Amino acid sequence: MENEIKNALINLIERCSNIVFFGGAGVSTESGIPDFRSETGLYNAQTKYGCAPEELISHSYFVKNPESFFAYYKENLLFPDAKPNKAHLALAKLEERGKLKAIVTQNVDGLHQLAGSRTVHELHGSVLRNYCLKCSATYDLAYILDEANCVDQAGKKGSVPYCVKCGGMVRPDVVLYEESLSMQVMIEAETAIRKADMLIVGGTSLVVYPAAGFLNYFKGDHLVLINKSKTGYDYRAELVINEAIGEVLGEVALD
Ligand code: ZN
Repeated sequence: MENEIKNALINLIERCSNIVFFGGAGVSTESGIPDFRSETGLYNAQTKYGCAPEELISHSYFVKNPESFFAYYKENLLFPDAKPNKAHLALAKLEERGKLKAIVTQNVDGLHQLAGSRTVHELHGSVLRNYCLKCSATYDLAYILDEANCVDQAGKKGSVPYCVKCGGMVRPDVVLYEESLSMQVMIEAETAIRKADMLIVGGTSLVVYPAAGFLNYFKGDHLVLINKSKTGYDYRAELVINEAIGEVLGEVALD
């Protein structure tokens, strides 16, 4: 990153005291978690399952084909060994310094919390949380990955995890396509953005709902966009940085 841009970003962070970060898939790619909507993700889904990723992780597909849903989901959306990268660590550090007040994320990987961030509004839920559709018992990621928990009542082994208490199907606390986002999380995210004096948007091209809408809640003076490619909102930003988010935030907050 050019020194001039780096210094501008550092100056902004120093001047602000209520920073909110809004992030998308690009935040986790440096942790080895690919965007399932990427070209490769699309190709893999089409060749193996015959449909687009968005269809595979939709509510109706889950209801109709739970076995294929979980096979695809476990293979493409779960990365139990992924570690927080410099972006996650830098944001946790900014929160610790009292600069950053909240993270609003479209990611479901739980890496912000793993990095130490406390106020994280997960718009699309988290793969780390799972619950039984019958009795609401909750389960962690390890439980649904354990093949021993994926045996149906007839004794057939598969990909669908079942509740140890009642035998019901266990599903991830992730918002599937066709499902509504949690109203409570939406309100918390909106409130945090409305109060912010600086909004850093990173790792998202701002085309996926509800990302673009959230930008309109921001009433502060300093909007910073960090994304590898240009977005349709660059004109609104005080600072646009077309680089990898981990590199950028690492340089300004971890050194
Ligand atoms: Zn149950």
